[in-house]
Amino acid sequence: MGRRSRKRYKKIVRPQKRLPKVFQCPVCGLPTLIIDLDTYMAPGGSERKKASIKCMNPKCGLRAEMTDLPTIYSEVDVYSKFLDALDKGEVEVSFEREGEEEGEA
Ligand SMILES: [Zn+2]
Repeated sequence: MGRRSRKRYKKIVRPQKRLPKVFQCPVCGLPTLIIDLDTYMAPGGSERKKASIKCMNPKCGLRAEMTDLPTIYSEVDVYSKFLDALDKGEVEVSFEREGEEEGEA
């Protein structure tokens, strides 16, 4: 009768880095829009969220930021709010386009 050595398999719990969710860009129409959420402390001591929105399509390069969002907001919520704000012209957007510099061959 042999003694069985019991091997214990420890589960390695690794904090999984959440991949940013991808949405359809309202400007170029490609599913290349990434929304990154961050929680921050707003003046007054309450937690708010801010989102940086960017389109990964180099020909589009949409960039936008939204702040003062409720902490319960998820990427989807931000996305719909962003579309809404964009429609009403309530959000500032910029474009970081590559290869579209003026006067260069
Ligand atoms: Zn785009």
